[in-house]
Order: sequence, then structure tokens, then C-alpha cells
Amino acid sequence: MRLTPHRIKPGTQVDLAAIDTRNTPMLSGDKRTERSQAEARHAENVVAMQALQQRLFAEQKQSLLVVLQGMDTAGKDGTIRHVFGLLNPQGVRVHGFKVPTALEQRHDFLWRVHAVAPPHGLVGVFNRSHYEDVGVVRVHDLVPEQVWSKRFDQINAFEQALTEAGTTVVKVFLHISKEEQKERLQARLDTPEKNWKFSMGDLEERKHWDAYQEAYSDAIARCSTASAPWYIVPADRKWYRNFVVSTIVRTTLERMNPQVPEVDFDPSTITIDR
Ligand code: ADP
Repeated sequence: MRLTPHRIKPGTQVDLAAIDTRNTPMLSGDKRTERSQAEARHAENVVAMQALQQRLFAEQKQSLLVVLQGMDTAGKDGTIRHVFGLLNPQGVRVHGFKVPTALEQRHDFLWRVHAVAPPHGLVGVFNRSHYEDVGVVRVHDLVPEQVWSKRFDQINAFEQALTEAGTTVVKVFLHISKEEQKERLQARLDTPEKNWKFSMGDLEERKHWDAYQEAYSDAIARCSTASAPWYIVPADRKWYRNFVVSTIVRTTLERMNPQVPEVDFDPSTITIDR
């Protein structure tokens, strides 16, 4: 499965504002069957991922880290449920990053991130990540430009170090339009069971939409590397988003090609007592 339409080649300029949030280039042209195609292929991906995860867990020699970023309501929680929710929970660690605590603020920005990177055998999922430190931090001037502007290189070095230690890193930006965000925020107001998800803070952040798009465009351009690529996933349609993210995870695990360990005994010589 070719992910090239969504994978950002190292060194390319990125302008999120110019990238379609409803594009479906990984599906064949017939619009009427797109949704069922995507759902069927997503289901196949999940079955393949389950077998690959089992092998990764048994092998204990490498790990996978999937970084999820996106604007509020972009679908980070839904992606975790639909793509990672059917894996063996013993082998998955999901970590959400909030405003840094007082202790975290007394450390370098990568300290809290490194501490929860997945150990060999596991799939780690970051719901937000160190990219907040060049995202919200930049948009709101939480540190001076001379501090955040050095972070792209620091992030690349950090991800390279993880990679060399056996952690494959992939980064996914769930790309929604401003109109789609409006609809999703409105749905949180209109649906009683969704009210709890609504935050006045989201309306405040929405005012900075363009600044966020610019900050993420830069971060993706500066930090999409050959070994730790960024993917920009059109995410207005949840069924396309789920299909693309499961394809990314599946193909990445296939490339990692984990192997169950060889045993140092001959199973055929062993008899189990009655
Ligand atoms: P959710 O991820 O479900 O939206 P919250 O509503 O608690 O959860 O949002 C977490 C908040 O923490 C976001 O507004 C995010 O921008 C903020 N945050 C995460 N990391 C950082 C950081 N390094 N510096 C400042 N704010 C951060």
C-alpha cells in the first residue's frame, strides 16, 4: 500500500492551509464506494496489526512510537479508539501530554517525553507530544523564539537517538478544516453526552487557527526525516482517517518485521506428564 501521497519527504516545504482535508488519494476513484472500501481495508489492517503486534511483543527487541498531533477536535481520541483499541492492551501504552506540571517545567522539554517512550516489545501512542513545545508554546510565546527555534534540531536528534536504540518513530498530523472544527465543536454543544468534551478554551485556541497552521507547517517541514517521517492525514472524514492511520501502522510494523524468538530446546522431545 503506497502511503506516498501523505508522507512528507524530508526537506519539502509544507503549507497546511493549502492541503485538502477531504482528499482520498489512497482509494480508487468511485466516490459512492469510498467509505465501504476504506472500512473494509481498515478492518483488514487491524487483523494484520494484531498478528504483527504479537510478534513485536514476543521479540522484545524493538518498539514503535506513534505520535498524534492535530488541532482540537481533529480526532486524536477517536483514532486511538479505532486504530489501537483492538490491539492487545498489554502491548500498547497510550500517553497524553497536558500543560507541563511545575516539576516538568523545571526540566528540559524532552525529559517528560523520553521518560514515557515505549520500551522494546511495546507500541507507544502519544496523544499530543513534544511537538506541543513548538506548537502551543510558539503560538502563545510561552518561551522566547530563540529557545523554541532551537527545538527542531533538538527534536530531530532526540528522535534519531530513539531510532538508533530500536524505536521506530512515525508522526501523524490529523488535518481538519476550520469549518469541520466548527461543526465538531457545535456537536459537542448540541449533544448532551458530548457536552463534557466542550471547553471554552477551545474557542480561544480557534482564534489562533492560522498561527497554529503555520507553526505545524514549519514543525512538519523541519522534522520530517527519513527515519522519523511525518504523515499529514486528511481527517475531515473519520473513515478515511482511520484507514490511513491503520495503513501507516501496519506498513511500519511490516517493515520492522519482528520475529518470534527461537527456543533453545527441541519441542518434539518434550513430553508433558498426565
Ligand atoms: P486534550 O489533549 O484531550 O485536548 P486537554 O484538554 O487537557 O486534553 O488539553 C491538553 C492541553 O495541554 C492542550 O491545550 C495542550 O496544548 C496543552 N499542552 C500540552 N503540552 C504542552 C506544553 N508542552 N506546553 C504548554 N501546553 C501544553
